[in-house]
Amino acid sequence: MKTIMESEASRYFSIELLKWYLANKRVLPWRMNRDPYRVWVSEIMLQQTRVDTVIPYYERFMEKFPTAAALAEAPEPEVLKCWEGLGYYSRARNLQAGAREVLSLHGGVVPDNKEAVAALRGVGPYTTGAIMSIAFNRPEPAVDGNVMRVLSRYFCLEEDIAKPSTRIGIEKLAASLIPEGSAGDFNQALMELGALVCTPKSPGCLTCPVMMHCEGRMAGKEHILPIKTKAKLPRPETRLAAIITGSGAHEGKLLVRQRPESGLLAQMWELPHVLALPGEGGVAKRKGRGKAAAAAATASAELETAAASIAEAAAPAGVGSLMDRHAAQADYLSRMLSAEEGLLVRPTSWWGETEHVFSHIVWDMQVFRAEFGFWQQQAGADNVDDAAVADESASAVQLAAETAPVYGLPEGKAPANYRWIGPEQMKELAFPNVFVRILRDYWQGLD
Ligand code: SF4
Repeated sequence: MKTIMESEASRYFSIELLKWYLANKRVLPWRMNRDPYRVWVSEIMLQQTRVDTVIPYYERFMEKFPTAAALAEAPEPEVLKCWEGLGYYSRARNLQAGAREVLSLHGGVVPDNKEAVAALRGVGPYTTGAIMSIAFNRPEPAVDGNVMRVLSRYFCLEEDIAKPSTRIGIEKLAASLIPEGSAGDFNQALMELGALVCTPKSPGCLTCPVMMHCEGRMAGKEHILPIKTKAKLPRPETRLAAIITGSGAHEGKLLVRQRPESGLLAQMWELPHVLALPGEGGVAKRKGRGKAAAAAATASAELETAAASIAEAAAPAGVGSLMDRHAAQADYLSRMLSAEEGLLVRPTSWWGETEHVFSHIVWDMQVFRAEFGFWQQQAGADNVDDAAVADESASAVQLAAETAPVYGLPEGKAPANYRWIGPEQMKELAFPNVFVRILRDYWQGLD
C-alpha cells in the first residue's frame, strides 16, 4: 500500500476529485454550515439510508432539536416520533444518549477532540472521521462502504473489504490522500463520488472525474470490485398481527401495544403480533438468490405442505375450507395472544401481508382483522357444540359462529401496555415503519 500512497495516481486522484467536488457538490441541508452537531445528526441519519429519504427527516429533526442540549433534554418518545419511518431506531436512542454525554461532559458543545468524539455513544470510527473532518477540518479519514468501493476500484484493490485488516489498510490509504487543509471537502468528495458516479451496480466511468488513472477500470474490473464476502442472509420469521377493532366506548378505534423498554424496537408502538412457528402457519419466505435462498425456499415449501396435511387430517368433516393456511394462522394468533398476553380476540378475516427487513431478521407479516372481547354463545342458541365454544381456538369459535350467533363483551379490559387509538393518536406515538404502513392503509381503506 506504501507504493500506492506515493504514486502519481494518488496525487491525481486527490486533486481531480477535490476540483470536481467543489464545482459539482449538491446543496444539502447539512452542508449549510459546519456545526458539528448538525454534521453528527446527518451522519447518523445517513447510515443505511438514502439522501433523498433523509432530507425531510433531517429538516424536521433540526427544527425540533436544533442543539445537542435540546436533543438531550427532550423526552425519548418525542425523539422516536421524529425518527419514525427512518428505521434502525437504536440510532436515535444512541444519538440522544450521545447528546446527553455532550451536555454533561462538554457543556453542550461537541468537542474538537478525536478521542472525546469517538467516546460518544453510537459514534464509531466512520462517524468520528466524518465529524472531525467535516466540522473541524482535521485530516481524519471517514471510510464507509461507499469509500471502500471507490478506493478498491480506483486502486484495483482485490482484498476482501469484509475483513477488518482490509478496512484498516483502506483507512490508512484514505488518510494519505487527504489534501492539506481540505479534509472536510475531500472526505465529502469521496462520499459524493461513491453516491453519484462510482455507484455499486453501474459505475459511471465515462463521466468520472478520476477515470484517467482508475486502475480498476483499466483492468476491466470496475464491475467486480470491491471483493466482499457475502454477509449472512437475514433470518425469515412469519409474524401474525391483529388489527383489533373496538366497539362501544372504543368504536372506531384500534388496539395497539407498546414494546418493552429494551431490545428490538424498544418502547415503540405496534399492532399486537406473535411469532408463528413452522407448522403453525409460520412459513419461511426468503428473498434473494443463490443456494441458501433456494434451500430455504424448498424447506419452506416442505413445511407448508406438511402443515397443510396435518391441518387437513385434523379438520372436522365439512370445514376443510377453513383449514387453509390463513385459518390455521388466525387460530394460532388467537390462541397465542390469549396465552402470552391474556388478550382475547376473535380473528374475523385475513387483511393482507407485508414485509419488514431488519439487518438480521425479515418479518413476513400476515395481518388479520379481529374483534376484541370475550366471545360466548348467545343465550337461547342451543344448536352449538358447547365443547367448541369453550375451546379458545379461533377455528372452534369460527365453527360455532357458523351455526349460531355469538356476541362479544367489548368492555373487556386490555392488558396495561395496550391502548385504544384512532388515526389522530398516530401523530403522538412512534410506530416502526411496517405498522405505519399497515395502519395508514387500514384507515385509508375505511374512507
Ligand atoms: S473510473 Fe469508474 S470505477 Fe473508476 S472510480 Fe471512476 S466510476 Fe469508479
